[in-house]
Amino acid sequence: MKRPLAAAAAGLLAAGVLAVSAAGPVSVASAGTAVPAGGADSVAAPAVAPAEAITPLEVAEVAPGVFVHEAPFALIAPANRGDIANLGFVVGDEAVAVIDTGGSRAVGDALLAAVREHTDKPVRYVVNTHVHPDHLAGNAAFADGGAKIVGHHKLARALAARAPFYREQADRQLSPADAARSTFLPPDIAVEDTLRLDLGGRELVLEAHPTAHTDADLTVLDTATSTWFLGDLLFVGHLPTLDGSLTGWLAEMERLSERQVARVVPGHGPRSLAWPEALAPQRRYLSRIASDVRTLIAEGQSISAAADSAGLSERDAWALFDEFNPRNATTAFQELEWE
Ligand SMILES: [Zn+2]
Repeated sequence: MKRPLAAAAAGLLAAGVLAVSAAGPVSVASAGTAVPAGGADSVAAPAVAPAEAITPLEVAEVAPGVFVHEAPFALIAPANRGDIANLGFVVGDEAVAVIDTGGSRAVGDALLAAVREHTDKPVRYVVNTHVHPDHLAGNAAFADGGAKIVGHHKLARALAARAPFYREQADRQLSPADAARSTFLPPDIAVEDTLRLDLGGRELVLEAHPTAHTDADLTVLDTATSTWFLGDLLFVGHLPTLDGSLTGWLAEMERLSERQVARVVPGHGPRSLAWPEALAPQRRYLSRIASDVRTLIAEGQSISAAADSAGLSERDAWALFDEFNPRNATTAFQELEWE
């Protein structure tokens, strides 16, 4: 099934075409605004805030030259600024590649500050593991410095379709300032099958996967240390979220589990885990959803019954179960009712 690791990347996409404007609700005060005679108390705050001090994201070196930020289990909220997905970077002899950039520009800036605590080498690539905003809303922090954004060949299309919704969602979930600065930059380089990125004496192997968690899942293998960034193809502790194909994900897990690697980094969960042991809980949960939903469909039950009851035996095993399980069950029902 697998084609050889020849660089099968497509050409450059039209960078920027799909970028979403960061225009926010804050308007810039005109320079001629009169200051009321009442004094300093009534002077409006400057429309352009002074540059805020950036606190580097906390990262750990899980293997030589491989750094991972382990994010908390949470929904995006103003207080966490969108820092809810694991992020990482790999340092080569000449350059750095960043893997995912966080749920806001602020998180991207903090990740860049973390990179700078460990190396002065340029960030040449940003790899996005998939379309979800908690993994890519910080892209511009690196693109502004010249990094090329790399993603699955279906990422640009998925992002274009969803950007208006993601923009509206950011406005709801982040502070106005963080929402206004966050963008959803599309990839400059599309991965059709596999692509090797050279960081100087160190090679990353990127692999585009068939529809599973989403329709644009991409993994990153650091060959030097056999560290495999799985993005949201792997959740550990945090309930898996289904936005692609349940049967596709179950099938892809079988293929992934046959690989031999030293460690994996999940999109949500502990920063470094043994493989394939780390896959067992997710495989159990998704298999349970599939069998529960198939049973409900066979009984002629409704989709809302599936949302209420499918997978409930897994409830105590996962963080954010109530937040995501009903939607997973609904998505699974829509897919499996056509079997
Ligand atoms: Zn995701």
